[in-house]
Amino acid sequence: MPFIIRSPYSDNHSQWLKGNLHTHTSNSDGNLPPQDTIEAYRALGFDFLMFSDHDKFTDPASLDGKGMTLLPGCEITANGPHLLHVNAHAAVEPFEDRQKVIDEINNNGGGFSIVNHPNWLDDFNHCDHKFLETWQGYLGIEIYNGICRRVEGSPLATDRWDRLLSAGRTVWGFANDDSHRDQDRGLAWNMVQSASRDAGAILEALRNGRFYASTGVIIESIRIINGNTLEVVTPNAHRHYICAKHGRVPVVIDGPVMRYTIPDDFPFPPYIRVECWGAGDAMAWTQPFLLESA
Ligand SMILES: [Zn+2]
Ligand SMILES: [Zn+2]
Repeated sequence: MPFIIRSPYSDNHSQWLKGNLHTHTSNSDGNLPPQDTIEAYRALGFDFLMFSDHDKFTDPASLDGKGMTLLPGCEITANGPHLLHVNAHAAVEPFEDRQKVIDEINNNGGGFSIVNHPNWLDDFNHCDHKFLETWQGYLGIEIYNGICRRVEGSPLATDRWDRLLSAGRTVWGFANDDSHRDQDRGLAWNMVQSASRDAGAILEALRNGRFYASTGVIIESIRIINGNTLEVVTPNAHRHYICAKHGRVPVVIDGPVMRYTIPDDFPFPPYIRVECWGAGDAMAWTQPFLLESA
């Protein structure tokens, strides 16, 4: 068995929590005040939420989460590509040198950063790929950004993701609404395999890639069998793509239970990831599974 699959997921599938990390309120250019935004997301069945006002820290500490866990956050916006600051305690200065911003986030108070909507704007290039390749220390990128459905560019950035993963970078893929108006809520979210509803537990799961991104497909379980078989169970998906190096799709498997054994001569390491296709535009994206030589 030449390959062992390294999975970020745990075998305990009892608690998946649904959350959006990219939410604007009337403290920047969102249409609702923070408390009303909370009510709107709670009504959609979310378990956790993060405010990400532009260069402004909206402190959730004094707000009533209505049963949702509120994570503190901010979107670094001015002077360059937008970065999400997760677990923020203040707005970080938007240095033009975004590496400085990423370093400051990593060095102060247990936060991490996500590169937002890389394929936004009419040139589909809000964040030039050379930045994604050279910056170090960011945790992930938005592979799906909901608001990009109604503005210029593409909501999807799995092309950037595959390029980074193919180059050996371990970068997690996030799906977020980037909600500004009513119609932006509930388009895309992250399902986190968290030990509890505690902010600390959710953040720890996100850091370690124990989540999948979704626009409607539900993943019930993700298991590794005998080291080299990946099983993904998705009650409402009808097709699964195994995606590999440089965007190749070596295998397509139909049906709600996907099982794939890595062939001994699998020619496309260092990773695979699974795209789960549901009805309409509902999808789910697993995190990458690294393939290690046995
Ligand atoms: Zn943005
Ligand atoms: Zn935004």
